[in-house]
Amino acid sequence: MAHLPTPLERMERLSKHLNGPDLYIKRDDQTGLATGGNKTRKLEFLVADALAQGCDHLITTGAPQSNHCRQTAAAAAKVGLGCTLVLRGEKPAQDNGNLLLDKILGAHIYWTDAQHYPEMIAEVAAELRAMGRKPYIIPLGGSNVMGATGYVLAMQELTEQLAAQHINVDFIVFASGSGGTQAGLVVGAEVYGFSGHILGISVHRPAEELKMQVAALATATATHLGLGMLPLAERVEINDDYLGGGYAIIGETEREAIKLVAQLEGILLDPVYTGRAMGGLIDLIRWGAFTRGQSVLFWHTGGTAALPAFADKLV
Ligand SMILES: *Cc1c(COP(=O)(O)O)cnc(C)c1O
Repeated sequence: MAHLPTPLERMERLSKHLNGPDLYIKRDDQTGLATGGNKTRKLEFLVADALAQGCDHLITTGAPQSNHCRQTAAAAAKVGLGCTLVLRGEKPAQDNGNLLLDKILGAHIYWTDAQHYPEMIAEVAAELRAMGRKPYIIPLGGSNVMGATGYVLAMQELTEQLAAQHINVDFIVFASGSGGTQAGLVVGAEVYGFSGHILGISVHRPAEELKMQVAALATATATHLGLGMLPLAERVEINDDYLGGGYAIIGETEREAIKLVAQLEGILLDPVYTGRAMGGLIDLIRWGAFTRGQSVLFWHTGGTAALPAFADKLV
């Protein structure tokens, strides 16, 4: 399903503008599955597991503008499975962004709140079973050992690209939400010998909480892959300085980053994840957290399909 390897590019104009480290970007906004994003790499393994178990329907959950839900709906369509999305939040007056794509992709949609989604998922699964179907439940963000495995392999892909292009990267910076991407990258760094820092910018949760979750998932993923004991917890670095007004609340940090990267590089970021993470990276550069001569890779995790749904907050 995934279009791999995704491009690794220099951001020359942004680097020059910020007058800081050399900036690179890993284009996981180009992974495929109805506008792409990081969930595609996870779904490679999750969908394979569903098919191996003989399941015929995917169920997952997320926010109304969930990229994970949209990519799951696209993956289900691609391999011919049914798809039900349990969305947490207020049903908007108008379908837009990812929600519009969910419907075009043929997903069934149920609405619930953050407290009641587990019951709703169980109910949907029971209903499907009663109809003789075999549902496969994918957790929030696809963040379990299966999903994280996609990002272990992504690190193999990156280290091969870095070697071929003779690039040394000191920091990888990206948006960290449910933690599966970061857990996979940390395991992959140990397996494929990436020695730089892996810095997740939290979009949602306090650093200590997210760090514990990422470390636990990284350890479970390494165990799942039969890798034995690795020094994983100490490689989990998280910055939670850019939570702003909370998850999916757009502020000046996101607005500025989205416009700057669009207008200097022709690359679209998203309002909820990559806009926040890039805003954090830009702020860290301005504060002198990286020196000139260092190299920083921004891992673009997708999400641009959400842009239209935040139109009134962006321009
Ligand atoms: C889900 C998502 C993330 C966060 O990935 P996790 O593995 O949940 O931490 C980052 N960026 C985008 C665009 C996403 O959709």
